[in-house]
Amino acid sequence: MFEGLSNRLGEVFDRLRKRGALSESDVAEAMREIRVALLEADVALPVVKDFINAVKEKAVGQEVVKSISPGQMVVKIVHDHLVEMLGGTVQTLELRAAAPVVVLMVGLQGSGKTTSTAKIAKRFKDKERKKVLMASLDVARPAAQEQLRILGEQVGVDTLPIIAGQQPVDIAKRALQAARTGVYDVLMLDTAGRLSIDEELMLEVAAVRDATSPAETLLVADAMTGQDAVNTARIFHERVTLTGIVLTRIDGDSRGGAALAMRAVTGQPIKLIGVGEKMDALEDFHPDRIAGRILG
Ligand code: GDP
Repeated sequence: MFEGLSNRLGEVFDRLRKRGALSESDVAEAMREIRVALLEADVALPVVKDFINAVKEKAVGQEVVKSISPGQMVVKIVHDHLVEMLGGTVQTLELRAAAPVVVLMVGLQGSGKTTSTAKIAKRFKDKERKKVLMASLDVARPAAQEQLRILGEQVGVDTLPIIAGQQPVDIAKRALQAARTGVYDVLMLDTAGRLSIDEELMLEVAAVRDATSPAETLLVADAMTGQDAVNTARIFHERVTLTGIVLTRIDGDSRGGAALAMRAVTGQPIKLIGVGEKMDALEDFHPDRIAGRILG
């Protein structure tokens, strides 16, 4: 992941690091190259502009630290700002609400929503020793509920028994009741996806949210769709107020634009990343590690 950006920036920074003294034009040239590299990584232009301006501002105001070369200093400024743009610190899921804590999973079809629901449920069970119930509210896609049931069996997490013909809000209410009577710690709700954002989908998600008061409303977005993933997140956040993003298919995303711009555009943190199809291919999103990986 991030190969393209990492290679491009690696070259720029190698050159900077080797220089003893930096002229203004060296820095300007480096900024130009960073700008091109970010645009090639599919980061939206306004985000790139803000990034470059912020880095320039910091670089100008900075006193030269004796122990590091000017080149290293620019690298450090870029690194620190990249970490900031990625969200700063690791953001964990909020599980402190009264049980059952509801986690609502939303997103477009094919984004990896059902897979991520099961991955997160498994993580709660294994790492936090939580008793988890999952329910699929996807009545639009045949076999969606069955898909979650099979994944539940695979990861050893209970799923709500399927009742054919029941509508999403009713399933959600039944799930909440089952979670209460079964003394579950966490209830994960996997909502229906659509191929694109439409009014019906938004109304459905909002109705489920109102019926269940989730502690987390997580948008699942496919990193490989780049700026589309960011726009999807922005629109979902406007309509249903997200608490975080799960960015999937990071493993196949060589450009990294969605990961880079998500926080800046939506104001929402990436909380988890999907790094493969397997049920344990889920990681916390560490801005510093990602920045380190990009800058080499
Ligand atoms: P949904 O329609 O949003 O529920 O999508 P699914 O959960 O059914 O996922 C669609 C496909 O993406 C499946 O084949 C998953 O195995 C795959 N998938 C999900 N997350 C990841 C990921 O992080 N990396 C990779 N490589 N594949 C993923």
